[in-house]
Amino acid sequence: MDARTLTKFRKTLLEEKQRLMNNSKNAIKTELAVSQDDLPDETDLAASEVNQNLIFKLRDRERLLLVKIDEALSRIEEGSFGVCLECEEPIEPRRLEARPVSTLCIACKEAEEHKEKVYA
Ligand SMILES: [Zn+2]
Repeated sequence: MDARTLTKFRKTLLEEKQRLMNNSKNAIKTELAVSQDDLPDETDLAASEVNQNLIFKLRDRERLLLVKIDEALSRIEEGSFGVCLECEEPIEPRRLEARPVSTLCIACKEAEEHKEKVYA
């Protein structure tokens, strides 16, 4: 992959990372606002529990994505970005455009999903 394309993906990944960090910050702010409510009645309490569960779930997903973004960034540094971890062929550019954190080419990804379905 040429340096210009790599730089572009690096920028996309860094922007996505920034966006996720800002999201987490906002989620924490929302959470604090909820917990500062003094003596909430039962309905409020239930709503804030739902909210917190949602925030935790969101954070889990964001944390996972952040890890993937960091991994993709280090693959860019190492020069292995855009190479399928399974068959070591280049990952389809269109797939990377849509999902820069991809580590498998379409064929290997589909094989993996098939395996998951069969052995789930
Ligand atoms: Zn592959």
